[in-house]
Amino acid sequence: MNGRREMMTMTYNLTWLAAIPAGWRPILHDAVERLHALDPTIQITLAKEKFGSLRIHVDHGSADAYAVIDAARAASERSCELCGADAQLRRTPDGYYATRCPDHATGFMPLEEAPSVTFRVVVRGDRHDPSADHHEGNPDDGDAR
Ligand SMILES: [Zn+2]
Repeated sequence: MNGRREMMTMTYNLTWLAAIPAGWRPILHDAVERLHALDPTIQITLAKEKFGSLRIHVDHGSADAYAVIDAARAASERSCELCGADAQLRRTPDGYYATRCPDHATGFMPLEEAPSVTFRVVVRGDRHDPSADHHEGNPDDGDAR
């Protein structure tokens, strides 16, 4: 075994922390350590937020490694991406998904169904805009960003 190379892989894997929202960095850090303990040659090829959850891709793995990755994703689905507090998957009216705590939910609404379900009712707050239902992805809606 080549300990120096393994430490370089660990160091490289930790650089992915910079690629994801701050609230999830403890989750990814923990996953990197668990993966390293299972197999110090596993290299992360991508870590990113997608549809409100943490996705980790690796160059190779095992059932145990993928269990670690799945657990990290599950943890991200309960943790605010900005602060790490208890959170849930939310979406903006124009279809942007994010896992946010109540304090960081401005502009979002909770999801009560899986993301694959298409919402037909478009929530537009208190404004009375009869054309709103015909414009998807209207960027002037809310201050989510
Ligand atoms: Zn938060």
